[in-house]
Amino acid sequence: IVRLEEITRQFDRVKAIENISFEVPDGQFWVLVGPSGCGKSTILRTIAGLESATSGRIYIDNCLVNDIPARDRDVAMVFQNYALYPHMSVADNLAFGLKMRGADRQTQQRQVQAVARSLSLDHLLDRQPKQLSGGQQQRVALGRAIAREPKVFLLDEPLSNLDAQLRDDTRAELKQLHQRLGITTIYVTHDQIEAMTLADRIVILDGGRIQQIGDPQTVYTQPANRMVATFIGNPP
Ligand code: ATP
Ligand code: MG
Repeated sequence: IVRLEEITRQFDRVKAIENISFEVPDGQFWVLVGPSGCGKSTILRTIAGLESATSGRIYIDNCLVNDIPARDRDVAMVFQNYALYPHMSVADNLAFGLKMRGADRQTQQRQVQAVARSLSLDHLLDRQPKQLSGGQQQRVALGRAIAREPKVFLLDEPLSNLDAQLRDDTRAELKQLHQRLGITTIYVTHDQIEAMTLADRIVILDGGRIQQIGDPQTVYTQPANRMVATFIGNPP
C-alpha cells in the first residue's frame, strides 16, 4: 500500500504539487496523467524519496517514510531517459539490484532469466547497452528495476522514447508482467490510451492538484469537470 496524505512540494514560491492525497492498494496499477508541468514527476520523485515533501505524509505499507532515504524504501523507479550501466552486459544490468541486495548467484541467474523472458531480452543478455536499440535499452531499464521485485514500482513515461509499434508491444509486456508479479505500480504518462488500457485507477492532475480519481470507465463517462473531460478525450 502506498498512501499520500496532503502532500505539498514547494519550490521557492511555486507549489509544484498541492495537497495530494490518495491510497494505492497492494498490487494495483495506478496511472497519473495531466498536462506538462502539472506535477506528475514531482509526485513520483517524492514517493521514491528523491524529493522531500514540504508538508504532508507518505506511507508505504503503513510505515511513515518521509525521513527514510530513497535506497531504504524498497521502491524502484524508471525514468524516461533511463540510464543503463554502459560497461556492464545486459545480464549484469538486470542482476545489479539483486546483487546489491546480496542475492546469491543462483537467485540472480534465475531472476534474470525470468525477467529477460518476459521482456523478450533472452537473446540480448551478453550484449553491452551501446549494442542495443533505444527500445531494447528501455526494456533492459524496466527489467533491471523489476528484477529485484521491489514493493513499489514507479514509472515516469517509460515508453515515450519508443516508436508506436514498440510502445504497443512493451505496454502489453508491462501489463503481463504486472499481472504475473502483482507489484504495486504508479505509472506516469501523457498518453490517454496508455492510461485507459493499463490503469486500475487514473489520477488526473492539473496545476499541481488532483482533479479526479476514478477507474477508466468512470473518468471517461463521468468526468468531474471540463478539464478532465477534455483531457480524457470526451469533451462536453
Ligand atoms: P512533464 O509532463 O512535462 O514531465 P510534470 O507533470 O512531470 O511535467 P513536474 O516535473 O512534476 O511536472 O513539475 C511540476 C512543477 O514544478 C513545474 O511547474 C516545474 O517547473 C516545477 N518544478 C519541478 N522541479 C523543480 C525544481 N527542482 N525547481 C523548481 N521548480 C521545479
Ligand atoms: Mg515529468
